[in-house]
Order: sequence, then structure tokens, then C-alpha cells
Amino acid sequence: MRRRTIAVASGKGGTGKTLVATGLAAELAGRGFTVTLADCDVEAPNDHLFFPIELHGAPVEVPLAEADAAACTRCGVCRDVCAYGAVRLLGDVAVVFPELCHGCGACVTACPAGAMGERRRRVGEVVRGSTAVGPGRVHLVAGTLDIGEVKAPDVIRAARRSAEEAGSDVIVIDAPPGTSCSAVAATRGADLLVLVTEPTAFGAHDLALAAELGRALDIPLAVVENRAGSGPVSVAAWCSAEKVPLVASIPFDRAVAGAYAEGRLPGGEVRALADALAVLADHVTGEAVLV
Ligand code: SF4
Ligand code: SF4
Repeated sequence: MRRRTIAVASGKGGTGKTLVATGLAAELAGRGFTVTLADCDVEAPNDHLFFPIELHGAPVEVPLAEADAAACTRCGVCRDVCAYGAVRLLGDVAVVFPELCHGCGACVTACPAGAMGERRRRVGEVVRGSTAVGPGRVHLVAGTLDIGEVKAPDVIRAARRSAEEAGSDVIVIDAPPGTSCSAVAATRGADLLVLVTEPTAFGAHDLALAAELGRALDIPLAVVENRAGSGPVSVAAWCSAEKVPLVASIPFDRAVAGAYAEGRLPGGEVRALADALAVLADHVTGEAVLV
């Protein structure tokens, strides 16, 4: 089959997104597929805890404008052309604030004195490794944002590029929670957006936001309900009203939480979870999604 990219996301953290992403990757590998699991939750990546893989990393670097104090005439052109407000004139030189600079190069091109240059700045790393799972294989790619850095989307895009290079039948993306730029970077261009939610008021509110994101990006949606039966909200009713398929429900079960907390691969011993992941894998590989 042609490669498919499945993004697993949630409007809020703690709904079980990683449980579903790692479980789906393992389920697909168990069916003989080669799967790339791309952990794009770069502020707290933890998919590697479920797979015994030796990982090797490479830094993620972004361009950063920087003025040469000796050559700068303090004309202010760079400050005026920067669309992100990243340049200020301080003392005798133009100063670039790294957190605001998008590395667009406009100030470098515009500087009449040739004083504005560019250097590379590390913002995180992407690690990767591979292991056999049943008859298939899981390539794990994980992005990690350096502590104190804010450029999560750059690390996510680097992780996704690395995932594309891995060569697999399916890419499963563990997206960051929420609907910010990071979530957009992790999900844009996916073939299917699996939204993991829970039957609580918070879960329902943030599910609606996440669905809005998926629709804005023109990605088909599917919902997985986690901790089914633990709250007052009917996820099924929401899905019916919004015409989004509720693909699987994972019961509120201490055994699921126990296996997850101990870093054991989801599925397997917990029958109801394994069944839910199998149904989700059917949906991911089924004709309705493949066309
Ligand atoms: S445009 Fe060039 S010379 Fe002018 S303030 Fe900026 S860095 Fe200095
Ligand atoms: S590279 Fe672009 S974003 Fe960065 S300071 Fe220059 S104009 Fe602003």
C-alpha cells in the first residue's frame, strides 16, 4: 500500500494519546507492517520508554541573525524590515533576540553595510533507532526540544523529515497536545487525524478544538475514547452530532493504567485495550481510509 501518515492527537494532555500512538504502532508491526513512530511531543517525548531501542541523535539547528558590532552603522534598516520585532538598536549595535528571530534572512539581505550575518543555533535534537516487533518493524524517531528553548515547531518538522526518510508502510505521529503551532506542525499533511479524548467536560471542550484544527487542515478525523465510562460526557453523542467516526473505546481499567505506568507495550495482556487497538488498526489500514 502507499505510505500513510496517521497523526494521533488530543486537545488536552493526559487523555492517552501516547498510549494509543505506541499501541497502534505495535499493533501494525504485529501485522507485518514496517511502522515509523514519530514522537513529536517534543517537550515531553516518552514513546521510547515502550520500545527497547538503541537511539542515536543529531542536533536540530536553526538560522539566527547576528550583527557584526564593528561593521554596524546603527542605521536601523534591519529593525524596520524585521516582521517579527526581533531586532532592537541597543548601544552601538543592532541586537537580535534569538527567541523572536525566525531566521527569514530579510535583515541580512537588507543591511546596507553588510554587517548582518547568520549563524546556526541548536534548539533540540532528533534521535532514531529501530527494532523488530513481531513480524514487522518499528522505526522510532523522537524529537526533543532543548530546555529553555521555544522553537518546538522546528524540532517537530525535523522529526517529521527524519520519519519520512525512514522508509516505512505507515508513519504514526504522536503529536503534542493542544492546538498550537506545535500541533499544526505535527499534524499538517497527515492522511488521518486520530483524536484521543475522555468523557469529561474538559475532554469534550478540547476535543471540539482539536477537531476544528483538523478540519482547518483538511484532514479526515477519527475519535478514540479513552477511560470510557469514567465521566458524564457522551463521546458517542458528540461524534454522532459532528459526523466523526468513533472508532474505538478503551475502558477505564486499572490494568491499562498499570501496564502503561510500567512502560509495557499497550495491548497484549489487557484484552479490551488490545481489541480497541485492533479496531483502530483496521480503520487505519481499511479500504475506507486507503482510497
Ligand atoms: S541594517 Fe546593518 S548596519 Fe543597519 S543597524 Fe542593522 S546591522 Fe547595523
Ligand atoms: S532573520 Fe528575519 S526574523 Fe530574524 S532578525 Fe532578521 S528579519 Fe528578523
